[in-house]
Amino acid sequence: MNVLKIDHLGVAVKSIDGVKNFWADVLGLKHEGSETVAEQKVTTAFFPVGESEIELLESTAEDGPIAKYIDKKGEGIQHVAFRVANIEEALAELKAKGIKLIDEKPRIGAGGAKIAFLHPKATNGVLVELCERD
Ligand code: ZN
Repeated sequence: MNVLKIDHLGVAVKSIDGVKNFWADVLGLKHEGSETVAEQKVTTAFFPVGESEIELLESTAEDGPIAKYIDKKGEGIQHVAFRVANIEEALAELKAKGIKLIDEKPRIGAGGAKIAFLHPKATNGVLVELCERD
């Protein structure tokens, strides 16, 4: 499998507006835009850091995956996303190796990227996202 880099770190927050000051003003990161992914009940805000990005994640509904995550574990790093050259190939390879997947097929995430999550049971408790972008 060809992992190119850490694409982004997903950080679950209760309110993007409430924490933006730290990421943008204190750290001086540039807020590159926000996007709501209705299917995932989440609003994302991206802050590039060198070759990677911080992705803030705010739930748009009380029953969304990010709201549930915060209820259970509190705010914090929720997932690590690895950029791969070919996500379909990567998923086929992982499946062949018996790695438990949440998404057997890629779906479309923020910024039009193709994304898929691996099951944390297969990754020492780390929610891993694979991501392919043009
Ligand atoms: Zn992500």
